[in-house]
Amino acid sequence: MAKDSFDTLRVHAGYKPEEHQFASSVPIYQTAAFGLSNTDVANQIVAGKLPDRFDYSRDGNPTVHVLEQRIAALEGGIDAVAVGSGMSAISFTILNVAEGGGRVIAPTNIYGSSLDEFRNFFPKYGINFDLVDDVNDFATIKSLIQEDTKAIYVESVANPSTEISDLEELAKIAHAAKIPLIVDNTFPTPYLLRPFEHGADIDFYSSTKGINGHGNALSGLIVDHGNFDWANGKFPQFEEDEFILGDEESGEKNSYLSKFGNAAFINRIRSKFVRLLGSVLGPTDAYFVLLGLETISERLNKQVASTVAIAKFLESNEHVESLFYSGTEASNPLVAKYFPKGVGSILSFELKGDETNIAKLIDNVQIFSYLPNIGDAKSLIVNPGRTTHREVPQAIRSKHQLNNQTIRLSIGLEDVDDLINDLDTAITKAFS
Ligand SMILES: *Cc1c(COP(=O)(O)O)cnc(C)c1O
Repeated sequence: MAKDSFDTLRVHAGYKPEEHQFASSVPIYQTAAFGLSNTDVANQIVAGKLPDRFDYSRDGNPTVHVLEQRIAALEGGIDAVAVGSGMSAISFTILNVAEGGGRVIAPTNIYGSSLDEFRNFFPKYGINFDLVDDVNDFATIKSLIQEDTKAIYVESVANPSTEISDLEELAKIAHAAKIPLIVDNTFPTPYLLRPFEHGADIDFYSSTKGINGHGNALSGLIVDHGNFDWANGKFPQFEEDEFILGDEESGEKNSYLSKFGNAAFINRIRSKFVRLLGSVLGPTDAYFVLLGLETISERLNKQVASTVAIAKFLESNEHVESLFYSGTEASNPLVAKYFPKGVGSILSFELKGDETNIAKLIDNVQIFSYLPNIGDAKSLIVNPGRTTHREVPQAIRSKHQLNNQTIRLSIGLEDVDDLINDLDTAITKAFS
C-alpha cells in the first residue's frame, strides 16, 4: 500500500490516533484556549518552539490543524491554513501577495463575490485588478503584466460555464514575470485536479463546497506549494523584520523569509491574517470538513458520472438552447490534459423561452433544491443571473453567455434516473 496515495491520505493524513487517546474519529477540541502548564513551557509555546502545543484557538487548534495537514498532504503542498469561509481564503491570499498596493491579473468569469471584491473593494486598499474576458488569452495576459503586477489569479474551472484554465501555460507566463499563479480550485476539488502538479504556486478552496460535500458548514482552505521564490525583490513584505518573529531580549530579528524560508507565504497568512483579522475556522466545522473529505473520491466519481448523464439528457432536450459543461466536450484538449477523472459535478444550460419558463422550471422541480450552493450531496438548482451572479454587471455576464435564461445545476448523490425524470417533468411543465 503506497502511503501517499490520495485515497489513503484523505482518511489518514495529519492525524496520529496515539496522540489523541487512540480516538478513531478526529476529536473536536471545542475550546477557546489551552493551558500553558508553567511559565517556562509558556515561553516556549508562545515562541513557537513547541509545535504540538496550542495556546489560543485563533492561533491554532488541534482539530483544525489535522484538516490543515490533511489538505496539504492531499495537494502535495508544504502547509495549509484553514479559515472561516472561501471568501476569507480569497481575501487573505490577495492581501498577502499584494500588500502595500499593486496589480493582479484575473478573468472576469469568476465567482460573483470575488469579482465584486476585485472590482469594487480591493481598489480602495490600493490593490487594482486587470481583468481579462478569456482566461486562456495568453497574449493579452502577458501584455497586462506591469512592474507592480503581483500575481495571476484564476479559477481552475469557471462558475457556471465550467470553462477550463490552461494552468501550465498560465504558470509559465507568471513565472517568467517572477509572480505566482494563484488558483481557486473550488469546483474540481483536489480529487479531480491538483493545481500544484501543473505549476500553480498557491491554491485555495471554498471547502464549503465539494470538499465538505454535505452543505453543512462554511469553510475555506489556503494551500502553499512551497516552491515560489518570495525573495525575488517583488515582495518586500516577506523580507522586512517583523516584531513578532524576533526576540526583544536577545535582540534576534527575523522576517518571514529568514524564519520560514519557502514557507513564508503560508506562515504569514496564519500569523498576520488569521491571527489579526480573525475569520477562524471553528473546530466543529473543521470536523465536518474532515468527515466529508473521507468520502470525497466515491462522492465525486458518482457525481461526475451522473452529471455527464444529465448533460447528455439536456443536450438533446428540445427546450434547451445550449449546454455549458466541459465534461462532455470530447474535442476539448484541456479536458484530456487536466481532467482524466472528469470535470466535476456542476453544469449550466440556457433554457429557451423567457423568464416565465425559468420560473416554472425552478418551481416545478421536486428533488432538486433551489438554493445558492454547489458540491452538496443533495442536487441543487439555481438561476445565477438573479442570485449567485447578481454582483456581476450585465456587460460582463453577456460576454460569458450568463443571461437570465441560464440555469446552474450541482449534481448530488441521488439516483440519476430520478434526477433526469425530475428535470424532464419540470421542463415539460415549464412549457405547457
Ligand atoms: C462559493 C465559492 C467561493 C466563496 O466561498 P464561501 O465559502 O461561500 O465564502 C469562492 N469561489 C468559488 C468558486 C465558489 O464557488
